[in-house]
Amino acid sequence: MKRATRTSKAEAEPEPPVLPPAPASNEKDEKKDGKTVEFQGKGGAKTWGRAHKPNFMGALAVYLMIIFCPILPFYAYASCSAYECSITNLAQDIVATQSILPFWNNIPTPSVQGFQILGVWVVFQALVYVYLPGPKGYGQLTPAGKKLEYNVNGFSAYLLTHVLFVFLSDMTPYSAGFFPATIIADHYSSLLWACCAAGYIVATYAYIKARVAPTHPEDRKFTGNFVFDYFWGVEFNPREQWFPKIGQNASGEGLDWKLYWVGRHGMMGWSLINLSLAVYQHRFLAAHPGHPSKFSPVALPSHITNSMVLLNVLHTIYIADFFYNEDWYLRTIDIAHDHFGFMFAWGDSTWLTFMYALQSFYLINNPIELPPVYFWTVAALGFVGYAIFRITNAQKDLARSTNGNCTIWGKPATFVRAEYTTSDGVKHDTLLLTSGFWGIARHMNYTADLMGCLAYCMTCGLSHAMPYFYVIYMTLLLLGRNYRDESRCSGKYGDKWKEYCKQVPYVLIPGIF
Ligand code: NDP
Repeated sequence: MKRATRTSKAEAEPEPPVLPPAPASNEKDEKKDGKTVEFQGKGGAKTWGRAHKPNFMGALAVYLMIIFCPILPFYAYASCSAYECSITNLAQDIVATQSILPFWNNIPTPSVQGFQILGVWVVFQALVYVYLPGPKGYGQLTPAGKKLEYNVNGFSAYLLTHVLFVFLSDMTPYSAGFFPATIIADHYSSLLWACCAAGYIVATYAYIKARVAPTHPEDRKFTGNFVFDYFWGVEFNPREQWFPKIGQNASGEGLDWKLYWVGRHGMMGWSLINLSLAVYQHRFLAAHPGHPSKFSPVALPSHITNSMVLLNVLHTIYIADFFYNEDWYLRTIDIAHDHFGFMFAWGDSTWLTFMYALQSFYLINNPIELPPVYFWTVAALGFVGYAIFRITNAQKDLARSTNGNCTIWGKPATFVRAEYTTSDGVKHDTLLLTSGFWGIARHMNYTADLMGCLAYCMTCGLSHAMPYFYVIYMTLLLLGRNYRDESRCSGKYGDKWKEYCKQVPYVLIPGIF
């Protein structure tokens, strides 16, 4: 791909925004017709964004998720701690005893230490987010017509966090040894409790803040249903702007909850959980030479297993990529379209951290050494998946940032030119790319992501279903996301979206779906 020099005004020159006078909240302007994604902005302008009015089933589903989602990470913990990570054995015991005691007796108890470690972690990450210098990045125009500025220091924060973890812990002979590198593995269960509690606290705070002290009132969305708003979020980009302005943070943008909580707590936490569990496995196997595993067709080494190494390599590539390309992330659905509620607050605190790290947790409970052919097959699947994922995402970013003045796969980019209107009534133009991977299917980045997910799961062998939870969950997540996204884009772009879908008829798998 080649970047052209000229850039478009609409998408490419992210100058500090000149904001129009803020329209009032569009709470009362939304259409009341179910799943619509269009609504009337101030002054009658037709705009887009999340405007779902929940029906009974939608609200019920959200209600059940808020109450019951936490059971899953605890169930996973219980089945790994007492049933070799077998989901069915635990379930069978529950059925056989007709009581939840087999589950209840194996869930962890909360401890103060878990909350202390989490407290240090979130405060450290907040300070790094706000004060570590980084280039400025800009999100997409919000429905109210704002272009927000971000301190894009994700990769430096990633490096700093990992270097500090390695050298302040006892990970290497040169490390200071202030705490064990297995700290997360050692306090896994109490951290699970702490992260779960933090998710509910942040979600509640976000809801109250949206009501009483919103950062950008005109970009809030209310549905009139408390549970629905609590889950999907009201504020679009809540921020804490009270941090003293020092150095790079002089713009006063402060801490953006979404970028901070998803990236610095969630993704960074996931990475350190993996690392800590890998060290734990290494030390455990070294202390128990000849440790048998009935799951491994190959004898276990007296150090780390190749499955744990491969899993960590694949996860590290994915997570480091996220931080290296943090500027790109500002224009993905998470930041550009989703509101900050329970889904982000609890999801990124507990689900992302503990359920995404489930394979590592599985491998410390069931260490396996993979046969070479299997190992390299899984590695190839993971690497190819990552390559397609990265190229697809980069192609969209390139086409948008150059307004289509670029080449993709050696040819000038092709696209459908589309228009949309923000709630201030201003019209903007953009493009929907139809070349490269975006000409093959409308979401090849999702397809590639799922290839990577399958590879992570396969590092755990084929003995148990639990590690495969991740790829099943991600498939459902990305299908649901695709459905929401297509419905939003069709509202935003109208006939131009139809024209684009005609040119690129498949969603995930060319010729099939
Ligand atoms: P995309 O990066 O594909 O963004 C979709 C948006 O891009 C649309 O809403 C639309 O926004 C714009 N768009 C759609 N089609 C085109 C086109 N042809 N040309 C240009 N722009 C287009 O999706 P996500 O933000 O969901 O995902 C980003 C990446 O993150 C993916 O690779 C995904 O797999 C990954 N991901 C990972 C998750 C995880 O938990 N591991 C969770 C979610 C995502 P608009 O036109 O309004 O700008």
